[in-house]
Amino acid sequence: MASIQEKLTIRSSQREEIVDISEQVQRVVSGSRVAEGLACVYSPHTTSGITIQENADPDVRSDILEHLRRMVPHQAGFRHGEGNSDAHIKTCLVGPSQVVPIQGGRLVLGTWQAIFFCEFDGPRTRHVLVKVLEG
Ligand code: ZN
Repeated sequence: MASIQEKLTIRSSQREEIVDISEQVQRVVSGSRVAEGLACVYSPHTTSGITIQENADPDVRSDILEHLRRMVPHQAGFRHGEGNSDAHIKTCLVGPSQVVPIQGGRLVLGTWQAIFFCEFDGPRTRHVLVKVLEG
């Protein structure tokens, strides 16, 4: 079983931001020449995650961020001294990774789906690992 792993660089411009990384992930898949398999997209950070969501209406992304802010306010008497406990909790809710099937060398995403990097403690430069497994 062949596998390759590549590191993407993602630059966020706001404290909280949902960034479409589908094209970058597809580029890794295309470069791997794997026709059938799985792509694992993983954020090795404690205050950013990966989700798959709608890419058609940007209001969906705004609604997700706004609702996460309501559920987990930035300041809420947390004990953690860095002042970013909300970002840690939001990352717990979103999760650090997604696995997407590959068919015919393409990510199998629904018509309205995209792979998003979720920044909760930016702006900063992050890395996302993409592992492509053949099989
Ligand atoms: Zn922290």
